[in-house]
Amino acid sequence: MKNSDFIDRDLDVLWHPCTQMKDHEFLPMIPIKKGKGVYLEDFEGNRYLDAISSWWVNLFGHSNEYINSKIREQLEELEHVILAGFTHEQVVKLAERIVKITPEGLTKCFFADNGSSGVEVALKMSFHYHKNRGSTRPYFVSLTNSYHGETLGALAVGDVELYKETYNEIMIKTLQTPVPENDSLEAIHQPLLELEKLLEERGHEISGIILEPLVQCAGSMHMYHPFYLKGVRRLTEKYGVHLIADEVATGFGRTGKMFASEHAEITPDFMILSKGLTGGYMALSIVVTSDEVYREFYCDYKLQKSFLHSHSYTGNPIACSAANATLDIFENENIIEVIQPKIEYINQKLQQFRHLPNVKEVRQRGMISAIELEGYRPEERIGLKVYQYALKNGVLLRPLGHIIYFMPPLSITFEEIDKMVEVAYGGIEGLNS
Ligand SMILES: *Cc1c(COP(=O)(O)O)cnc(C)c1O
Repeated sequence: MKNSDFIDRDLDVLWHPCTQMKDHEFLPMIPIKKGKGVYLEDFEGNRYLDAISSWWVNLFGHSNEYINSKIREQLEELEHVILAGFTHEQVVKLAERIVKITPEGLTKCFFADNGSSGVEVALKMSFHYHKNRGSTRPYFVSLTNSYHGETLGALAVGDVELYKETYNEIMIKTLQTPVPENDSLEAIHQPLLELEKLLEERGHEISGIILEPLVQCAGSMHMYHPFYLKGVRRLTEKYGVHLIADEVATGFGRTGKMFASEHAEITPDFMILSKGLTGGYMALSIVVTSDEVYREFYCDYKLQKSFLHSHSYTGNPIACSAANATLDIFENENIIEVIQPKIEYINQKLQQFRHLPNVKEVRQRGMISAIELEGYRPEERIGLKVYQYALKNGVLLRPLGHIIYFMPPLSITFEEIDKMVEVAYGGIEGLNS
């Protein structure tokens, strides 16, 4: 079989995510036959180094033998069971482990199907918690430039105009507070003052503040200082507003620690986990919260106090077995330590980009790094040019506009880092020739 066997058939019946389909009149679709390690391979034997972890989900390579074997074992036992009134080994194990590795004080796991649905769960729980205590608080606060997913609630608390503007008339109520301009310590003071002012004036109407700890990934890989997060925790406690940490993208080692919240040594009231949770195998998410939140819903059966939210595939055993296998790898292979020299190596490799005339800024937090270009108009679609150049040279990059970024699987080797960086360099340098 060839690539062309699938391209026309695909375009006949599929509508792809986050895509202007007309682009595919000139941009060839790439049918992938298989994956191994950081590489994807198409039907004609071309290989692509997956420098974006297939939308930030993959941690330990494609077709990972250990995760494969654990999923196979689970398949022979149980594929799925309703999670209301029933439970199973994989979900119990996974919840125990998540409680153990997340910050102290997070003790209860609520399962959902993907990042966006996890965000919806956290928002509803936070609102409902206050309502159960006799206080109706219809607002959520989010940071400017934030991203929390595409379902209506998640979209409403986000701030990426490109995804949201069209739907403004049907959004829930949100308030926005400025994110620090950069990752310096000086940049946190003004935003914290503004947040305090907002909470002082309107705290009684606000259920919670939701944020992406340290890195706003879909928001151009924008980064801020951990002390801002510390400051937000202090202010939310002072004003009795929940802190919801959306670690969907930043969780599971991406920032150099297991969770980005650890950099600020804080415990949020809710932590949302997905993407890397299953090592990039299956859709699954968990909202982890505290006993205090849990107890506010715990009472004799009264409909309006119970959290009556569910998804058909909640806590799917196969997805949970992939997640347990992923956590096994973190433990058995000491991954957080193993990635430290890779982070340092990427840092060294990034320095060369600073000398290019079209590079405005280079930034990094752990295994996430970004090169921001300047001097181009949006119509030039330079991101697309770098994307096409990289594909031709065997690397899958997927720039966010004029931001070229790397978020490779944690299992990437030093040689593979060389290739990834070299190709990105060629693509950026070539833009001006
Ligand atoms: C990807 C993402 C989501 C949405 O997750 P989906 O699984 O795509 O629904 C939410 N929050 C953040 C920070 C994300 O990066």
